[in-house]
Amino acid sequence: MSDDEACAHLKAIEKVVGPKKLECEECVKIGSSWMHLRTCQTCGGTRCCDSSPNRHASKHARAAHHPVVCSAEPGERWLYCYPDDALAEY
Ligand SMILES: [Zn+2]
Ligand SMILES: [Zn+2]
Ligand SMILES: [Zn+2]
Repeated sequence: MSDDEACAHLKAIEKVVGPKKLECEECVKIGSSWMHLRTCQTCGGTRCCDSSPNRHASKHARAAHHPVVCSAEPGERWLYCYPDDALAEY
């Protein structure tokens, strides 16, 4: 894990974008299920975490070059940057 200082993406977040719905928008389309949810801070889409069978959040981050997600889980307040593997609480 690199420290927060190394990640300009996390520093650039001024307001955290929360989930519109507590569901993975990709899993819903294919009738799959998920473990935990992450919300993309670039486009606002909510997708499933790396513990889920389809890992839609990390696939989206790589494919769309949207680096930062927040946890969409109730009570969790953190941001994660995929390319820098950096975590920040807020
Ligand atoms: Zn970063
Ligand atoms: Zn999913
Ligand atoms: Zn996105």
